[in-house]
Amino acid sequence: MPPGYDPTGAYRLSSRQTRNAFARRLCANNKIDFARGLFDCHSMTATRPPAACLIGWPAAHSRSPLIHHYWLRKLGIAGGYVIEAVPPDELQDFVFRLAPRGFVGANVTIPHKERVLKLSRPDARAQAVGAANTLWFADGELCSTNTDVEGFLNNLDACAPGWDRAEEVLVLGAGGAARAVVFGLLERGIKRVHLANRTRARADTLADQFGDKVFPVAWEAFGDLLPRAKLLVNTTSLGMHGQNPLDLDVGRLPDDAVVSDLVYVPLETPLLSAAKARGLKTADGLGMLLHQAVRGFELWFGQRPQVTAELRALVQADLTGA
Ligand code: NAP
Repeated sequence: MPPGYDPTGAYRLSSRQTRNAFARRLCANNKIDFARGLFDCHSMTATRPPAACLIGWPAAHSRSPLIHHYWLRKLGIAGGYVIEAVPPDELQDFVFRLAPRGFVGANVTIPHKERVLKLSRPDARAQAVGAANTLWFADGELCSTNTDVEGFLNNLDACAPGWDRAEEVLVLGAGGAARAVVFGLLERGIKRVHLANRTRARADTLADQFGDKVFPVAWEAFGDLLPRAKLLVNTTSLGMHGQNPLDLDVGRLPDDAVVSDLVYVPLETPLLSAAKARGLKTADGLGMLLHQAVRGFELWFGQRPQVTAELRALVQADLTGA
């Protein structure tokens, strides 16, 4: 049994089998040795170095431990990152006792992202998006933010510098991810954000919330806007494995348009393939996923990590089961 493992611990994954399976997967490509992977995925004790966790229910597989363990090792920081299965009726107690449990902060995922707003002090991004995915302590106070906003923006900056000169942007989808995207676009000064969603009422609600620079469009009519869209963002789940592809003719976009797709399974969606084939710049969902993790790590462990080609390859291999 690895040192520091507390078999009775309050810090748990859904089951020991889940932990072990996860640790084995981490080690599958010799990226992390098995003992260390197992140790890192197990429960923590308060005497261990600073650790963060991912709070969700159920404890779904996540790439976050892979990403944060990579950065911890790369930067030589003694720390940990574990997955915590926390049912809804235990969320408040868990969040209020994060520090006594030895955690310096946490990521939050489904179904808790909205509820943690009331259990913490949300920043402007978390408030505007209506959901938080990152918790940390500032002067002893539990704060929350939504790092999808900067994940989206920083990924675009890395893949298509100058993208924010676009005057008009077309966003497809009006779910949780779209809220972060629209907020980020407005924060960057984009003047017109056209928003098309299958369920029109959701686009109208989002537009009402974000003000007069956001224009809801009927889903059936978004094709008419393609010639004006210098940036196209897909925030729907269309194009994901098991879903229909997005029915869209990239040939109608301007020659210098940028195409961003938040879907990252598969890594190259049919939309991104078509955009690349036309010679357009693209920003994929994996890039956003990696960039959104940067801020949490920095808030918890005090150093700003880099999104490197090596990290991307590591997570890509995990995603494709290579
Ligand atoms: P969500 O809140 O459930 O919203 C899903 C969106 O997809 C809604 O706008 C929905 O339209 C639309 N949609 C679903 N099926 C559709 C169909 N058959 N035709 C047209 N529209 C359809 O989900 P979310 O959290 O916003 O996530 C959306 C996608 O972004 C997912 O693929 C997720 O994995 C990805 N994502 C990626 C990152 C990243 O870091 N790369 C971060 C967050 C999310 P209706 O309103 O009409 O249902």
